[in-house]
Amino acid sequence: MDKIKMTTPLVEMDGDEMTRIIWQDIKDILICPYVDLQSEYYDLGLVKRNETDDQITIDAANATKKYGVAVKCATITPNAARMPEYNLKQMWKSPNGTIRAILDGTVFRSPILVKGITPYIPTWTKPICIARHAYGDVYKNTEMRVEGGSKAELCVTKPDGSEERSLIFDFKSDGVIQGIHNLDKSIGSFARSCFNYALDQKIDVWFATKDTISKTYDHRFKDIFAEIFEAEYKDKFEEAGIEFFYTLIDDAVARVIRSEGGYMWACKNYDGDVMSDMIATAFGSLAMMTSVLVSPDGVYEFEAAHGTVQRHYYKHLKGEETSTNSVATIFAWTGALRKRGELDKIPELCDFADKLEAATIKTIEDGVMTGDLYLISTLENKKKVNTKDFLNAVNERLAESMA
Ligand code: NAP
Ligand code: MG
Repeated sequence: MDKIKMTTPLVEMDGDEMTRIIWQDIKDILICPYVDLQSEYYDLGLVKRNETDDQITIDAANATKKYGVAVKCATITPNAARMPEYNLKQMWKSPNGTIRAILDGTVFRSPILVKGITPYIPTWTKPICIARHAYGDVYKNTEMRVEGGSKAELCVTKPDGSEERSLIFDFKSDGVIQGIHNLDKSIGSFARSCFNYALDQKIDVWFATKDTISKTYDHRFKDIFAEIFEAEYKDKFEEAGIEFFYTLIDDAVARVIRSEGGYMWACKNYDGDVMSDMIATAFGSLAMMTSVLVSPDGVYEFEAAHGTVQRHYYKHLKGEETSTNSVATIFAWTGALRKRGELDKIPELCDFADKLEAATIKTIEDGVMTGDLYLISTLENKKKVNTKDFLNAVNERLAESMA
């Protein structure tokens, strides 16, 4: 069989611990036998980040801007315990944060559904894609405790030096205050990323805020989404047969629970933080969550939503058998290869991505799965396999469909 040719390299970002092991295995077992893989390789493993003073992360993000599509392995975000473990020069920032800042992107998370893993909400038969605005609000706040007898005001000093003031509260007793902000530009980028990704996936967009209570702040989000939609996306959505729908956050929460899934739920920063954890848990397993960072100008970076699975890695290092779920990492690869295929007009590459995804799902639905799924699957003929045997089982099915 001739291997599928690529015309533009994929930006490949390697990572850490158990996912780094899986990364190599996925390439060796599932990708390279079928695809003449062209990638520009960046090692974002902590050792290399430390060696290069994290320049490698910046280079990888810039390469992603240049080529348009990247696939990333999970990486360690160092904490105090990692300083001696990796002999670090400093506590390097989260690579995901660095990359997101350079690409100005939004992260979309969607679960992979398989028979035998039933969501806690039984009506959810299609994935719910969560989009979280990752700028401002309470994550960049200023807070103070206030002593009784104090008066708190919002004060803005304008470019001409004049001041605009507004009373927050006249404190008769002790209390607290908080100042938060957001930027029209960031909200606009978020809106465009959501609309672009919805068009790409052919799914409706739901967006919700608390604009009835927050009549200026949250209302600005609502207005910016509406303005950008009307001016740039209305026709494209009509053509694609999808909808943009705005509602109050309370109403959105109720509708999500009653829905069958199959749409994007765009959330403000805090709503996205907590709701993405709820959605991930309700769909069954963090190891079955995909994640893609999309910039407003249409650059894509695919990854798994989970981390480096540290506990399994230490077992692996001791020579013990592991049963780590590679599904979300496989789907990061298929997402990236499919996108590359679409951009470069290589239908065989898109077809390969479809077949690899189908083979992965079929393996689990045939009852062959890793320990995390084995614990929750309702299939009767289920069998727990180790990390590598799962990949080999996927390859048996993939080879059949590629033949
Ligand atoms: P984690 O790696 O997601 O693992 C948390 C636990 O979830 C694991 O211990 C495991 O449970 C289970 N799990 C997650 N993924 C799994 C998989 N693929 N297969 C089977 N079980 C899986 O999160 P963490 O332990 O909090 O973080 C470890 C490292 O990952 C940290 O250094 C963190 O900075 C990094 N991290 C990176 C990213 C990223 O790059 N996107 C995201 C999150 C965290 P059991 O141990 O009970 O089996
Ligand atoms: Mg959270």
